[in-house]
Amino acid sequence: MLDLDHPMTDHIFAASRAEDRLSVLCKLMTLASAQERQRLFAECQEPLNSLRRLNAARFGASDFIADAVTELEDWLGSLAALETTPREGTAYAIVSCPVCGGLLTRLHHAFMPQPERRWSVYCNHCLGPSSPAWHKLESSQGFGTWAI
Ligand SMILES: [Zn+2]
Repeated sequence: MLDLDHPMTDHIFAASRAEDRLSVLCKLMTLASAQERQRLFAECQEPLNSLRRLNAARFGASDFIADAVTELEDWLGSLAALETTPREGTAYAIVSCPVCGGLLTRLHHAFMPQPERRWSVYCNHCLGPSSPAWHKLESSQGFGTWAI
């Protein structure tokens, strides 16, 4: 549990917000067209830069964090570069991922606000290779966002 009175708490929450944004963008990327993936990857730059600024200003310019951010960015770039182009607007209709063939993850979205529904169907298998980078970022050696 995060100590809300700790001087780092605000910075850990700021890192968590950037991580959450990146998490949504990469979920969207799994079922996006090739062109849309590139646009989403460009949108990733702002939260990636936020993580780099936080690291420089508040986390002692950690090499561990810097490497984890670069590792995640490299993986996002490879996801963005996937050639397979799913048919547009079919995320609700298809069962398996057009890229890897894996079964899609479907979050129960009946109570989600409309803007969040768009990422309620995604391919968790395609996200798998990003796990090591996420774990590093969230770890105590990283931003410590695991505690939120
Ligand atoms: Zn997939």
